[in-house]
Amino acid sequence: MLKIHQLNKSYPIGDSSLHVLKGINLNVEEGEMVAIMGSSGSGKSTLLNIIGMLDEADSGEYILDGLPIKNLTEKKAAVYRNKFLGFIFQSFNLINYKNAAENVALPLYYQGIKRKERQEQAMFHLGKVGLADWAKHLPKELSGGQKQRVAIARALAANPKLLLADEPTGALDTKTSHDIMAFIQQLNDEGKTILMVTHEEDIANMCKRIVRLKDGVIMEDVKVTQDRAENYV
Ligand code: ADP
Ligand code: MG
Repeated sequence: MLKIHQLNKSYPIGDSSLHVLKGINLNVEEGEMVAIMGSSGSGKSTLLNIIGMLDEADSGEYILDGLPIKNLTEKKAAVYRNKFLGFIFQSFNLINYKNAAENVALPLYYQGIKRKERQEQAMFHLGKVGLADWAKHLPKELSGGQKQRVAIARALAANPKLLLADEPTGALDTKTSHDIMAFIQQLNDEGKTILMVTHEEDIANMCKRIVRLKDGVIMEDVKVTQDRAENYV
């Protein structure tokens, strides 16, 4: 599904530069559920942004679903993103003046899907996250957990091969975090490949594999051995 080889990324700072990712090697197979962990500043978001084609590496190889991701134009990157990837963010990133159904329907608009079909798809995916009755509500009328469910429905709407999440539970209380994680686990059980950044151990333990980054290097890459259900407290 995803192959990364000797990936490097630096950010310029003044006359010098900050080497953020230092020769990352990572393979993710279809159906995996991977947590990327590491302290603040270790390069987690940078790696996820490169995987999400929101940013580009300086060197190294990145192959997504057999397709080399290199020197893409903005337009091509947008097409690939739409086709392959769904995104979930800590801060939900919903559009405030659009209701839940309209938020979910938005990626379908960019895919050129007709209005009626968009509405049907949006309702289907809102139903999947248990929010069919909230379709007409604006984000400000929803709880944090509900907003993240809408964001998940939006991420799923375009039927991505890979779901990317940057601290998806970072803005939620413990109970809601575990509910959201249980839902993401369910998606994984249904076959969706998931890659998420987190700095919370209990959240990472609800994934199947943990990759630990430190100062831009992968220090550890392990399977979560316990039954994931046991981590659901
Ligand atoms: P994490 O998500 O693990 O907290 P990041 O990937 O966001 O870490 O950042 C890694 C390092 O790169 C940090 O030191 C951060 O300040 C720096 N950094 C991130 N993005 C940029 C940028 N666009 N320009 C300059 N430095 C950046
Ligand atoms: Mg980050």
